[in-house]
Amino acid sequence: MRRIFVQGKIHPEIQVGMREIPLNDKQIPSLRIYDTHSIDVHPIRSTWPKPAEGLTQRQAAQKGIITPEMEYAAIREGVAPEIVLKELAEGKAVLPANKKHPECEPMIIGSKFLVKINANIGNSALGSSIEEEVEKMLYAVKLGADTVMDLSTGKNIHETREAILRKCPVPIGTVPIYQTLERGDLCWENFRDTLIEQAEQGVDYFTIHAGLLKDYIPLALKRTTGIVSRGGSLMACWMQTHKQENFLYTHFKEICEILREYDIAISLGDGLRPGCIADSNDEAQFAELKTLGELTKIAWDLGVQVLIEGPGHVPLNKIKENMDLQLELCHGAPFYTLGPLVTDIAPGYDHITSGIGAAVIGMLGTAMLCYVTPKEHLGLPNKEDVRTGVITYKLAAHAADIAKGNPQALLRDKALSRARFDFRWEDQFALSLDPELASSYHDESSPSTHSKYCSMCGPNFCAMRITQELL
Ligand code: SF4
Repeated sequence: MRRIFVQGKIHPEIQVGMREIPLNDKQIPSLRIYDTHSIDVHPIRSTWPKPAEGLTQRQAAQKGIITPEMEYAAIREGVAPEIVLKELAEGKAVLPANKKHPECEPMIIGSKFLVKINANIGNSALGSSIEEEVEKMLYAVKLGADTVMDLSTGKNIHETREAILRKCPVPIGTVPIYQTLERGDLCWENFRDTLIEQAEQGVDYFTIHAGLLKDYIPLALKRTTGIVSRGGSLMACWMQTHKQENFLYTHFKEICEILREYDIAISLGDGLRPGCIADSNDEAQFAELKTLGELTKIAWDLGVQVLIEGPGHVPLNKIKENMDLQLELCHGAPFYTLGPLVTDIAPGYDHITSGIGAAVIGMLGTAMLCYVTPKEHLGLPNKEDVRTGVITYKLAAHAADIAKGNPQALLRDKALSRARFDFRWEDQFALSLDPELASSYHDESSPSTHSKYCSMCGPNFCAMRITQELL
């Protein structure tokens, strides 16, 4: 496995890092795969030409300008840059890359492209250090996280984020309301100052709960689990206390103007996402989704790229309705969902309950899946939980890519199946999502990697070996 670089054609100054897996296969001698893991993180974008007049990627696309970032993302996806441009111009995709995060390797999030995954990290009041959070970020990216959200709510939020950003080759997202509370009271002025502080550091996308309106609160209070979004519950409390409309909604244009200056994408938060199956697809959830659709148009008109956040806890039979309504109400803006978890009864296994929903909603068109770790509902994830969450979600995203017929995804499956049938164990491990685990499971009970069977069936009952004798 090695990292190779593909040079841009429109912008020869760009060198796109990819992973190449050499194989002992005459038909598929090697495979190039999308690689989030840059070993040598440095400010690659600092020398690239910037769009004139400080245009955002969306505005540049609307003017027909293919930026270096667009070409970079296109090469990674194996598509023509014109496709990236078109999807960006129409708002069906986002390319989150703050002008102040030059270390960020450009990538694109949209239903026409590979399904992406996000890993959440960040400390809480009860634990973790800056070093641990940087380590979790690097680990998540090594395993394939396409974006990372720093959800720190504990100590040293600014310093933690700075350390993460300067070492991170993927877009970083945050929920700025968390740090607003560190500044003092929850109010527009403190929120605005937090936005600017984080924008200056280089955050690439912000989750902002601007669609949770005062009138929707009573709808949520009738639920089994009420409001389960941290940002949503904080804003609901503020509105009830002050008897005022959500200041993120009333100041939405000003928020967009700040975001446009840095080219930060907005991820319109689902403060009323259902926290259990009983609350899924209810009036509160869809009322907020409708407002997110209205805000999408405002942000687009101001040149800002938009993602729409989605649930949550949704049973399998109600997932399609979520996707259909999101597309209809939010005008085709890319959907970014947390799972969804398809049942509530498996704490400790929620990476799986949510991975099932994520694969289904990904297949239906969701562009990015926010991972869930086994610690969901139970505690702050550690490094091992990050590993389990990322691999589970790479699996869900890949399953969705396969169902959507993505040629890169299909070729990797074909290459692995051929390696498996040929007993090329090393190739099989190298092509797998978690080579280390696959190889260790094999080695703990099976003979060498030269044998034509494993300990599952043994030499006399190995069906693939017996089939080969028939050929
Ligand atoms: S022994 Fe069984 S599980 Fe192992 S390679 Fe052969 S058919 Fe597959």
